[in-house]
Amino acid sequence: MSYKKGKIYIVGLGPGKREYMVPEALEAIEKSEVIIGYKTYIKLVEDLLKNKSVISSGMRKEIDRCKKALEYAKKGNIVSLISSGDAGVYGMAGIMLEILLKEDSNIEAQVIPGVTAANAAAACLGAPLMHDYAVISLSDLLTDWEVIEKRIECAAKGDFIICLYNPKSKGRQKQIEIARKIMLKYKDKDTPVGIVRNAKREGEQIILTTLDKMLENKIDMLTVVVIGNSQTFIKNGKMVTPRGYKV
Ligand code: SAH
Repeated sequence: MSYKKGKIYIVGLGPGKREYMVPEALEAIEKSEVIIGYKTYIKLVEDLLKNKSVISSGMRKEIDRCKKALEYAKKGNIVSLISSGDAGVYGMAGIMLEILLKEDSNIEAQVIPGVTAANAAAACLGAPLMHDYAVISLSDLLTDWEVIEKRIECAAKGDFIICLYNPKSKGRQKQIEIARKIMLKYKDKDTPVGIVRNAKREGEQIILTTLDKMLENKIDMLTVVVIGNSQTFIKNGKMVTPRGYKV
């Protein structure tokens, strides 16, 4: 008797445009019978989903989505659980693996990387991440705000380039203001800042500014904010952090 063994692909879709999705992500979706994801991301790949079972759900349903993926894989289905950007960067990969490991499940899971927002935004801005950088999410939904403040403080003190994810939402307006104040303790007010909205997808907007003026610009949940280190400069519309080469 033969039976089909299920599998879960945890797929990063990249920032949005199809050209920025890795070929293996496309392949995984193609091989899958069941596709599970947040509805906005399902829309990004809708054209690839003909003849597949599609399960889309709203925000904050992450655990339910992973449980569904496991349920379908246990029935012998090949499942793709999709995230935007890289699935392992504030995405679905960790949650899915935690659930599988907790259950001691022998279902095979494979994480397929994607271009994360920081990398997409950096490419839009020039080359701001040429030196050590820290990625910090300002969302205090799952992380205590004191922890976030401490990490901003340490990254700023260490002269890291800082990429802020989830910088500001309707319900979270103050966090970015506090983050800026902490950074100003260690970083010059003229430190270059790049604000990229919808990087590498429809509606892309790129703003070059400074730490002093950054809050004068629109910042929301579709935005990544990149704050330079002490060496970062802006010239001819490009934000660059030197690596140290004598050019
Ligand atoms: N897994 C995703 C990140 C999810 S957290 C990734 O790797 O990119 C969601 C946050 O990511 C958003 O609030 C925003 O700060 C950022 N983001 C995701 N895609 C983006 C894009 N195309 N342009 C700008 N910011 C983006």
